[in-house]
Amino acid sequence: MFNKILIANRGEIACRVAATCKRLGIASVAVYSDADANAKHVAACDEAVHIGGSSAAESYLRVERIIEAARATGAQAVHPGYGFLSENEDFAQACEAAGIVFIGPPVEAIAAMGSKAAAKALMHAAAVPLVPGYHGDDQDAQLLHREANAIGYPVLLKASAGGGGKGMRVVERSEDFAAALASCKREAASSFGNDRVLIEKYLTRPRHVEVQVFADRHGGAVYLFDRDCSVQRRHQKVLEEAPAPGLSAEIKREMGEAAVAAARAVNYVGAGTVEFIMTSTGEFYFMEMNTRLQVEHPVTEMVTGQDLVEWQLRVAADQPLPLTQEQLKIDGHAIEARIYAEHPARGFLPSTGTLKHLRMPEGVEFAIDASGLGEPGRKAPVRIDSGVREGDTITPFYDPMIAKLIVHGATREEALARLSRALHACEVVGPHTNVEFLQSIVASEPFATGDLDTGLIERHHDALFAPRKKPYKEALALACAALLTREGGTAHGASPWDALSHWRLNGGYTQTLGWRDIDSGGESAGLFTVTFARDGGTQTLEHDGVREDFKWSDGSGPHEFRATIVDARATGRVFVDGDTFHVFCLGEALAFEWQNLLAHAADAEGGEGRLTAPMPGKVIAVLVEPGTVVEKGTPLIVMEAMKMEHTIGAPAAGTVSEVLYAVGDQVADGAQLLVLDVQ
Ligand code: ADP
Ligand code: ADP
Ligand code: MG
Repeated sequence: MFNKILIANRGEIACRVAATCKRLGIASVAVYSDADANAKHVAACDEAVHIGGSSAAESYLRVERIIEAARATGAQAVHPGYGFLSENEDFAQACEAAGIVFIGPPVEAIAAMGSKAAAKALMHAAAVPLVPGYHGDDQDAQLLHREANAIGYPVLLKASAGGGGKGMRVVERSEDFAAALASCKREAASSFGNDRVLIEKYLTRPRHVEVQVFADRHGGAVYLFDRDCSVQRRHQKVLEEAPAPGLSAEIKREMGEAAVAAARAVNYVGAGTVEFIMTSTGEFYFMEMNTRLQVEHPVTEMVTGQDLVEWQLRVAADQPLPLTQEQLKIDGHAIEARIYAEHPARGFLPSTGTLKHLRMPEGVEFAIDASGLGEPGRKAPVRIDSGVREGDTITPFYDPMIAKLIVHGATREEALARLSRALHACEVVGPHTNVEFLQSIVASEPFATGDLDTGLIERHHDALFAPRKKPYKEALALACAALLTREGGTAHGASPWDALSHWRLNGGYTQTLGWRDIDSGGESAGLFTVTFARDGGTQTLEHDGVREDFKWSDGSGPHEFRATIVDARATGRVFVDGDTFHVFCLGEALAFEWQNLLAHAADAEGGEGRLTAPMPGKVIAVLVEPGTVVEKGTPLIVMEAMKMEHTIGAPAAGTVSEVLYAVGDQVADGAQLLVLDVQ
């Protein structure tokens, strides 16, 4: 076994590989770009080497620089992770030339599977079933068109060198073929430097089912069962599970054996995934082979209890496979959800920014099976693989994945319930995330019943994006509790407390808190107010014309609050980011933006020294008279509208020169209330 390896990757997969190294007593070397100088994966390894600028091309894709780092640190082998150089035959070749072990398949196997078209030719020869289609060398446009017509529409055009769903075009009719071909070729040339395409029959309502394979250098080859990865957006996986639900033992065995045959056909060594596309009636066809560890490998680890990175290291060190096919068993069911920094409602556009608050459900990091890592005999039911910590930034340079949340259960049903609960315990403030979207999918009828196909998200788009009922009242009470606690005194110049707390009515006092709702898309809605009143021992909150008893207190942990309103009690966390109060309660995330009513009043009248009514209403108190000297924020006039009180404070220090309304007067929206001579 190796003493030291270099991990030529970043993010969660680099941390994941480092965890196994640590467990096996192997020293690990990280490489990092400028943007990753303080990244989690650097901290996770024993040593780290800076390899260049922030873009992937200037760092994680620099073959020479990475080989140099391995040499300089005395690493005997390189683990490429996934993405970046993991399927790059030049890199594998360069490692070999430098006398460093590439922890992956032989160069020839990468090359054979790197071209989808060439791979299909090989698979055909190995009697692995293929989707009807054309994958020939002749790329004449007329010929391709004739082939498409012969296959029958719809057809799917793919870049032969492609990956990540890039370049793929569905063609519905013969008339559209020429244009689709041109655009597929353009994207293929620009993304992969190779415009070769292949054509496949486009299956409707197919499932994506893949098989994890492993082979060693001693003739051993096994399959570690299957995974369903049908839930995809833009042909990219969102949820993955093992085993694939609803398939007969016979189909599973056939697929497993076909996958092993595929691996053997290219003299495969190491971890690989054979991806199949499956029709609704259970016919399966080879799609491609990924010659690396897959993003979704943890679900296989959870059900087999095996550490696949350990297997990779053993195989790379020339050891035989740890287990035979007969020794491999499946225990229970596992599901993985990829938590991304992205905007599902805006076509899943990536989102960036600092993770100001990050709380993942209780779980174990990188725990494969507790029998290997912790207490014997106990599986960790929730696993979190993440490459970021609170305070880290999701940059535009790399994949915007925040974490993989993986759960295990005795049955799919149990795993599903656990996943739902865990997703409702994720708290992220900073970039936008797909957490709510994942919650919706997991709760949806097709996913819950295992009715999976690659069109699930698109077909159920409206239901998945429908606004859902949230514990609004409880969350608002918690936000008010956090605001009232914060306003005990803050560095904020214009705290509502300074402005609003001095006014007393019948011995009690009243504060008007201005808020805006922030919806799950991050957009803020109209201004509304909540009035807090304390009279003797009674505290109330009034919102929307309803006044309710209100009690609150700080909770035990950071950002924790407890609030009770007349018929609801809630404990939650409120993370305050500037004036935005992010509330996490009862498994839901809501946000409210605190509004400085003074600033609103001042803005509304458009100039210093003039004060106008922010809404139509009645004057219920005048707190100053001509000649009164006021500080910035001193309450001047209290108005009432729709049974809510609004206190208008001084926008700046000065002297009141004129008061234009008296108690009881009805005032129009925007009317000037008094004149202030600003100092
Ligand atoms: P998987 O089936 O494992 O999701 P993908 O082909 O979608 O396989 O890619 C796996 C991961 O590798 C992606 O999530 C992405 O982060 C990363 N990746 C893919 N292509 C590249 C690339 N060219 N450069 C950097 N990262 C990449
Ligand atoms: P990539 O290299 O981008 O991962 P794949 O060939 O693995 O490309 O296809 C990615 C996804 O596209 C699949 O998971 C599946 O959802 C869809 N897909 C691929 N081939 C077909 C097909 N012939 N019919 C229908 N959908 C397909
Ligand atoms: Mg694929």
